[in-house]
Amino acid sequence: MTPPSGCLAGPTVGVAARCDTGARIDLHTHSHCSDGTLAPGELVRLAAARGVGVLALTDHDTTAGCEQAHAVCRELGIRFIAGTELSCRWHEHTLHIVGLNVDPRQPQLVAHCRQLLGLRRARIERIAQRLGAAGLPSARLAAPALAASSPTRMHLARELCAQGFAPSVQQAFERYLRRGGPQHEEADTPWPELSVAVKCIERAGGAAVLAHPHRYALTSGGLRELAGQFRAMGGTGIEVSLAGMGAAAAGRAATLARRFGLAGSIGTDFHEPGSPWRALGRFAKLPEAITPITAHLGL
Ligand code: MN
Ligand code: MN
Ligand code: MN
Repeated sequence: MTPPSGCLAGPTVGVAARCDTGARIDLHTHSHCSDGTLAPGELVRLAAARGVGVLALTDHDTTAGCEQAHAVCRELGIRFIAGTELSCRWHEHTLHIVGLNVDPRQPQLVAHCRQLLGLRRARIERIAQRLGAAGLPSARLAAPALAASSPTRMHLARELCAQGFAPSVQQAFERYLRRGGPQHEEADTPWPELSVAVKCIERAGGAAVLAHPHRYALTSGGLRELAGQFRAMGGTGIEVSLAGMGAAAAGRAATLARRFGLAGSIGTDFHEPGSPWRALGRFAKLPEAITPITAHLGL
C-alpha cells in the first residue's frame, strides 16, 4: 500500500521519516508526566527545533501532559497526536501498548489511567519500603515519583543518583530496583490484561500499537502468537522503526506487521535530551512494504 500523501517517503536508514511538508514525525515520546525529564511544552519546543512537524506524546499510563503539549503544538504549528503508552499483561509478560490519536479526556481511558496510577503508587511504595529496610531514606527517595502524574521506577533511579546512592541511573536499577531479576517488580504488579488495554484505546478513539516488540523476553514463536492475538483483539499497529532498534529487530517487526496486517509505527521513545542515539524525530526508514500507521491517523 502506498503511504498517504507521500508520508514517510524518502528517508534512508538513520534519517528521519518526513511528511510531504518536509516535517519529521515522532509517534513515541515521554514528558515528565511519566519518566521523561522535560515538561510537555518543553518537549514540543525541542521537537520543533529538531524539525518535527507531527508529534505524539505517549506518557506511560497517563494523558495528563496532552493538554499542555497540544497548546504549544498549536502555537508552533505542529500537528499534535494525543497518546499514551499503557502497561498491560500478556501471560507472564508485561507489555506496553501505545495508543495514538486518543481522546485524552475520554472517561473510561481516564478511569483506566487512574487505576494504573494506583498500581504504580503501590509499586513505588513497595520498592521504597524495601529501600527503607536497607537503611535508605525511603520517603525522600519516593517523593518525586509519588508526585508525578505517573510514578515510575525511573523517578526512583534518578533520585537514588541525585542523593548519591548510585553513580548512574543504570547502576541504580542494577543495585536497587531489580531484586530477583529484571522482571521482579513487574511480576508483582497486576497490570490489566492486554485485551483490556487494547479495548480501552479503541474506545477512546485511538489506534493501538504494540510498542518495541524487540524488548520483550519472547521467542519468535511467542512474538508471532502475541502479534496474532493483538491483531485479533483489535490492535492496529506495531513499532517497526524505533530509534535504537537494530536492523535485525526491525526486520522481525516488519515481518510480523506484514504477516498479521499490522501497520508500522515510527518514533524514538524519547525520554530526555542528551542521548544522541535517541534524538527526537530520528530513526530508520519504514520498509516500503509496510503500511505506515499514519494511514490510520488521518495524516
Ligand atoms: Mn519510559
Ligand atoms: Mn515502553
Ligand atoms: Mn515509551
